[in-house]
Amino acid sequence: MIDRPIYLDNHATTKIDPRVLSAMMPYFTEYYGNPSSNAHLYGWEAETGIKQARSIIAQAINAEEAEIIFTSGATEANNLAIKGIAEAYFSKGQHIITVQTEHKAVIEPCEYLQTLGFEITFLPVEKNGLLDLDLLAQNIRSNTILVSVMTANNEIGVIQNIKQIGAICREKEVIFHTDSAQAIGKIPLDVQKMNVDLMSLTAHKIHGIKGIGALYVRRKSPRVKLASQIQGGGQERGFRSGTLCTPQIVGFAQAVQIALQEIDTENQRQKQLRDYLWQKLNQLEGIYLNGDLQQRLAGNLNISIDGVDGSALLLALQSKIALSSGSACSSTSTKPSHVLKALGHCDSLAKASLRFGIGRFNTIEEIKEVADFTVKTINTLRRSSF
Ligand SMILES: *Cc1c(COP(=O)(O)O)cnc(C)c1O
Repeated sequence: MIDRPIYLDNHATTKIDPRVLSAMMPYFTEYYGNPSSNAHLYGWEAETGIKQARSIIAQAINAEEAEIIFTSGATEANNLAIKGIAEAYFSKGQHIITVQTEHKAVIEPCEYLQTLGFEITFLPVEKNGLLDLDLLAQNIRSNTILVSVMTANNEIGVIQNIKQIGAICREKEVIFHTDSAQAIGKIPLDVQKMNVDLMSLTAHKIHGIKGIGALYVRRKSPRVKLASQIQGGGQERGFRSGTLCTPQIVGFAQAVQIALQEIDTENQRQKQLRDYLWQKLNQLEGIYLNGDLQQRLAGNLNISIDGVDGSALLLALQSKIALSSGSACSSTSTKPSHVLKALGHCDSLAKASLRFGIGRFNTIEEIKEVADFTVKTINTLRRSSF
């Protein structure tokens, strides 16, 4: 059997934790009822699993159970939040503010709304990837209906000042949405303290499975109106119809619970691995760190490398290390990352970038191997290009 490459693409997705899989199993094999069937045991069993899961996820962000709307993931949650607000608050205004470094699942719905006549402001970021709060405040107008700023970036790992952004939006009475797909289970989240009105979540970035996530929708002070984007049986308070996928939802909650139980030790461990890798790579000339080093996810390292061709570098690394340049969702295209471009990089430097995403199952032995192999590969490529 050939050795599989070391997996360092944990911002794209993660390996399912065996504990998540075992929590899900009975809901595939035994408790297969429809949670909406309220006339028999099969339905009640499934409903009990959903209720427990909803409670765990609500508590994880200091929300109420009724404020959690299950979706197929963060992409759908972002679409529901952005289009749902645009439709529900249309008569109040048609201006939305977001940021150039957002995930495509925020940018694309906003661009779609532009085609319908909404006005979208895509704010730039500072060199370290963080949003200037004064710039945000200056851009809020009387017809602004929504501000959407992600909690943690999926490419460069920077963590925005969500609490301050929430306070600005609350003061100006504008609804605030945050995409927390990369943040849940990795940094503490509290929708009350952070003044968040809508929050997108997903399971598969924290060792849950793909295809399940949620949107938190604030129910009081203020009560957020939202136009549903999928109509049908009226599940999830009518915000998102469709039979709930009990095993996925139970697994999602288990993934959140494990991540929160281990958050401190795991962050400390991942940070040590990350810092080791950065210290090794930074010994080379012409290596630039993308994104703020302090205000950053523990498991993220994103660097740009002078004097190498981006695609040649990825090709040379891929037999030993599974990682990507930019985000997984845009890496099929040959376009440089829009996030790195927003940091001010030219096309070729943005392309010559590596995103290392460290996860729960990575070990120091792996990181040492990755550091050595990456240094060796960069040196070889640089020599051959002169
Ligand atoms: C992965 C990711 C998404 C998409 O989530 P899915 O559950 O795969 O739809 C959205 N936003 C961010 C920041 C992400 O990292």
